Amino acid sequence: MGVRDLIQTFALGELRQGLAVTLRYFFAPKFTVRYPEEKTPASPRFRGLHALRRYPNGEERCIACKLCEAACPAMAITIESAEREDGSRRTSRYDIDLTKCIFCGFCEEACPVDAIVETNVFEYHGETRGDLYYTKQMLLANGDRYEAAIAKARAADAKYR
Ligand code: SF4
Ligand code: SF4
Repeated sequence: MGVRDLIQTFALGELRQGLAVTLRYFFAPKFTVRYPEEKTPASPRFRGLHALRRYPNGEERCIACKLCEAACPAMAITIESAEREDGSRRTSRYDIDLTKCIFCGFCEEACPVDAIVETNVFEYHGETRGDLYYTKQMLLANGDRYEAAIAKARAADAKYR
């Protein structure tokens, strides 16, 4: 250890340097986000909770083509279809097991009618495994609840395409 280091040690140089950093950041603008009151902005392409959308007249968009089920690499989607009285084909069952889902977005990319989408909602949870098994009714309810935000996000996303 040289003389210079000895002086530095006895003068508590490193301690003073450390305190100077503390003091500088004490008065600097804070980076901490006070979640959940504050949130960081999410990309319009963020892939969160799934939703099934309807047309403005209330009709389900989904035509039970099963492309999303075929595209899903995690085999998280289960669809059964049936013919309605008017002759159109619709799903009689549309389930997504979110414990299998890897949020890749392939289902929404495969959908020809923009029916299944991933919202920017990430604040959901399950206390049992079954809570994260989303049925058609739950997915349609998500669509109804978040349609305004979904439409806005898709309009913003269109700018980048
Ligand atoms: S996001 Fe990917 S893994 Fe999840 S349901 Fe859609 S296709 Fe399957
Ligand atoms: S959500 Fe889209 S891709 Fe999946 S079955 Fe319905 S229409 Fe087809």
